[in-house]
Amino acid sequence: MGIIEAAKDAGYRVTTVKTLFDEPDISGPLVVIRHDVDRRPGNALAMAHAELEAGVLTSYYFRSVPVSFDESIIRQIAEMGHEVGYHYEDWHLAGFDVQKARASLAGNLERLRALADISTMCMHGSPLSSQNNMTIWDHIDYADYNVKDAVLDLDWAPYVYFGDTGRTFHSGGATNLRDYLGDASHADDVRTSADVMAFLGERRSEHVHISTHPERWSDNTILWATQWSRDVAANTVKRMLKLVRG
Ligand SMILES: [Zn+2]
Repeated sequence: MGIIEAAKDAGYRVTTVKTLFDEPDISGPLVVIRHDVDRRPGNALAMAHAELEAGVLTSYYFRSVPVSFDESIIRQIAEMGHEVGYHYEDWHLAGFDVQKARASLAGNLERLRALADISTMCMHGSPLSSQNNMTIWDHIDYADYNVKDAVLDLDWAPYVYFGDTGRTFHSGGATNLRDYLGDASHADDVRTSADVMAFLGERRSEHVHISTHPERWSDNTILWATQWSRDVAANTVKRMLKLVRG
């Protein structure tokens, strides 16, 4: 039993961010899964395979920098039917220069769109940057680029949010993120993937938003993936072991 199975067994529809835009009248029970591929895109590929084999499609956000942007992997994940989105940090990369940021954004979207249909994006938090990457939108209108922002353009208030930052699903204390991504205050006791499964099994909320960073699961990837889909464990484990052990 894993997170995906727990969600499906409890009657949740597991889906992408894009679906929320495509189906504005969508109703629960719903689990939206977003993966921010900060680095180690191979882990994201393994996760994408495991999800596909478990019968669900989710969203994968890639950065423009080489540690994340892998053309072959982006193409493969898109071809599976998962959503590929843009994990932007142009404001930081451009040194907070509006003209450079505009060129960076346009160029990076074009590179990604050569590989996959891109309709949504979400911010990468550049930890060493003095300015939030969303500051770019004080100067540039992203509607000009025919793309939606997964955080700014959706109302996450009805959602309970679980993120894997810090290797647990606990998101208490991140009050600013609660405003953006949904409320974790009803789920303060949820810290592990087992807790998430129990939460879903009891259907404690009709709207759940799960965000993961596949690279954080490098030493837990096998657990995560086999939990998701025991039937395909043998093949998946082989792939994962190759990835994990290099
Ligand atoms: Zn990120």
